[in-house]
Amino acid sequence: MGNSKLTVDSEIQFLKGVGPARSQILASRGIRTVEDLLYYTPFRYEDRTRLTHIRDLVPGQTTTVFAKVLTCGLIRTRSGITIFDLAASDSTGMLRCKWFHADYLERNKVFRAGQQVFFYGKVERDQYGTGTMSMIRPQFEILPEDTASEGGNSLEIGRIVPIYESISSLTPRVLRRLVWGALEGLDGQMPERLPPSVIARNKLSDRAAAVRETHFPAPENDLAVISAFRTPAQIRLIFEEFFNVGAGLALKRRQAKALAGVEFKVKDSARAAIRKILPFHPTAAQKRVLREIVEDMCSPQPMNRLLQGDVGSGKTIVAVQAAILAMENGYQVALMAPTEILAVQHYLYIKQLFRPLDYRVELLISARKAAEKTAIKRELAAGVVNLAIGTHALIEEDVNFSRLGLVIVDEQHRFGVLQRAELMRKGRHPDLLSDVLVMTATPIPRTLALTLYGDLDFSVIDELPPHRTPIVTRVIEESDRERAYKFLREKIRRGEQAYVVCPVIEEGGKLDLKPAVRMYEQLARVVFPGFRVGLLHGRLASAEKEDVMQQFKRGEVQILVATTVVEVGVDVPNATVMLIEHADRFGLSQLHQLRGRIGRGTKKSHCILMAGEKRSEVSQERLDTMTATNDGFRIAEIDLKLRGPGEFFGTRQWGIPAFRVANLLRDQEILEWAKKEAAEFVAHPPSQKELQQFVTYLRNEWPRRYGLASVA
Ligand code: ADP
Ligand code: MG
Repeated sequence: MGNSKLTVDSEIQFLKGVGPARSQILASRGIRTVEDLLYYTPFRYEDRTRLTHIRDLVPGQTTTVFAKVLTCGLIRTRSGITIFDLAASDSTGMLRCKWFHADYLERNKVFRAGQQVFFYGKVERDQYGTGTMSMIRPQFEILPEDTASEGGNSLEIGRIVPIYESISSLTPRVLRRLVWGALEGLDGQMPERLPPSVIARNKLSDRAAAVRETHFPAPENDLAVISAFRTPAQIRLIFEEFFNVGAGLALKRRQAKALAGVEFKVKDSARAAIRKILPFHPTAAQKRVLREIVEDMCSPQPMNRLLQGDVGSGKTIVAVQAAILAMENGYQVALMAPTEILAVQHYLYIKQLFRPLDYRVELLISARKAAEKTAIKRELAAGVVNLAIGTHALIEEDVNFSRLGLVIVDEQHRFGVLQRAELMRKGRHPDLLSDVLVMTATPIPRTLALTLYGDLDFSVIDELPPHRTPIVTRVIEESDRERAYKFLREKIRRGEQAYVVCPVIEEGGKLDLKPAVRMYEQLARVVFPGFRVGLLHGRLASAEKEDVMQQFKRGEVQILVATTVVEVGVDVPNATVMLIEHADRFGLSQLHQLRGRIGRGTKKSHCILMAGEKRSEVSQERLDTMTATNDGFRIAEIDLKLRGPGEFFGTRQWGIPAFRVANLLRDQEILEWAKKEAAEFVAHPPSQKELQQFVTYLRNEWPRRYGLASVA
């Protein structure tokens, strides 16, 4: 390759300074081309145009100091804690920096006297020194000795400096150099991707300039504005990402609407069947969402609907009614659940519910005997089975339906968009798509859901069934364990049941079930020898799992020790107590899902969170939130804030695009704006040519950049 010209599409290994090793590291973050690198934007900036003198430091302020290392080394306090202690000075004074438990700084000989270093951190008055200022755990950047020879063009000093998140051994400084090299190599040659009409109407800045400015902002910019990601350059890049996704979803939706779906008819026979099986009066919210679903099913276009409702809000019965409508129209229904336990539960519940009716309901999970599975598959293909309930087994290649009219996916967050599409295609009518109803209990903050699930319609159950008493949640520590056991004992003597949830610890990629097994043995033999204790975890054989669940349902098992396999779907209204071990190790949404297993009946329920005494600020906030509220939406908002969107949505499983520049929390306003523009552009493009050009670009970029299924 050598001297051929660098373009945005050049593979990253052809960039100067990137060899095979570095290109592999970069690839681990999805950076494969020069363009990928340029969209790896700084997560913060340091204003090194005006460095603060040590003399002028004020406690409480967060700032950058440029100083020379005087001394450094590891010290050990009397209580046995090791601290890496460093003293540095500029011409005006001395600064101390401390890192607790940082033996690695000593081991790796990171610092030595004489080095010139940027320290970035919060200034505090040193507890021990006399008025000396200190920084605890500052971030730092050591200036290499040869920097002086770079003359006026330093990337480190005298400018607003971009700070990147390190990628393994690639430090912010290395990344800064690579980005700089890429910008120099491209020399402003970066093709515009947004449609010209959109740029003009929204007065957006030019792409090449925006990328350069985002990495290396001009010094006259206000650091506060840059740090808030609100310079015109940054806004342009955020807009671009949201616009692309918005337009992609709008195109997808338009395409889906253009296809023919099943046109169900509301029939008296369906009404009669529902009347026969309804075990209770639906809530107003359940009635409303059912109306929305039925209306959608009766339209000639395929349904793509997300049914959202907090744990325990009663989604199952709504889905069951939709299924009846489909079956009474002569179609088959598939209900897919994320775990075997949940699939089995749905199966048993629905089978019992359908006793007065004559539908054929079958369970398809991989754990069943091969001969049984073969038989079920044959009957599915022949159209004899009306309702198939199962796990991933339902989307295996050799599963075929005769007339699949409705696909119900429970607990969506465990499945991807791709699998949903896979199941839709099982209908075997090439030009007729099945209706899809996706149910999720993970409350996606509403604003995000409405804007992001652009290809789905939305129904929300925002009301719990009547006569529920709110769950009381308490945090306790090891010293209260006996009291907690006493509480459980009293409840069980009164005929109620309890869950004890243990985390599964992952060690070196292997799941360690020991804590749960040990807890089970301890409770069964030592603490509650007079009660029947059961154990449920993912490694049990299917038949065993089913057995334990049934015993718990029938009240024969009184205390169920379980891992998070009980997180979704398990429904035993008589269980009123949940004790969660190591609650500080669970995520907030997960705690909420777990807690959703209780509070399902009319009796008052209690959730006891057993937490370690040493817990981080974040885990404390999670526990506080749990005790403060039962509202899934509020909990989701807080969880999103605590974890950040990347982690909240987990991997791309969610079918939510992995944004690079944009941040779903910070940039909601730009999201709304870009989405509106995208919808407008797709609906009324200034010319077909402009639309076509953009669609072609997006089709190539879509799967790679946003990790989503194909656009059109
Ligand atoms: P989720 O939305 O979490 O899937 P489920 O469908 O499992 O909730 O319902 C939770 C519990 O509430 C179940 O025991 C169910 O039978 C009960 N339930 C649902 N709707 C009602 C209602 N309208 N009245 C009384 N109980 C209901
Ligand atoms: Mg459910």
